[in-house]
Amino acid sequence: MKWRDNLLRIVNEGIVGKCPFCKSDNTDYMYIDHENGRGCLDIWCGSCNENEHVDCATPPANRKRMTMKQALAEERERNRKKNLAI
Ligand SMILES: [Zn+2]
Repeated sequence: MKWRDNLLRIVNEGIVGKCPFCKSDNTDYMYIDHENGRGCLDIWCGSCNENEHVDCATPPANRKRMTMKQALAEERERNRKKNLAI
C-alpha cells in the first residue's frame, strides 16, 4: 500500500502528509464511524485523485470523522455536482 506512511501519520499525528503518487500536499482524510462502534478510513489526494480505503478498528480520538449517514449525504452531493445518477 503506497499510502502506508500517510496512514501511520494520520493515526499518530492526525496529519496526512504528501501524496505518495504526485507528492502534492493537497491531501485529506476522513474516518467514517459505523454503528457498531468500529470505523473505516478514507485517504485521498485532491490533486491526482489517488485514494485508499482502510477498514480499521475504532478511530483514535481527536481525528476528523463523520457518520456513515453524513458520508452518504456528502457522496450524493458530490455526485449531484458532477451530474451523476444518484
Ligand atoms: Zn496525488
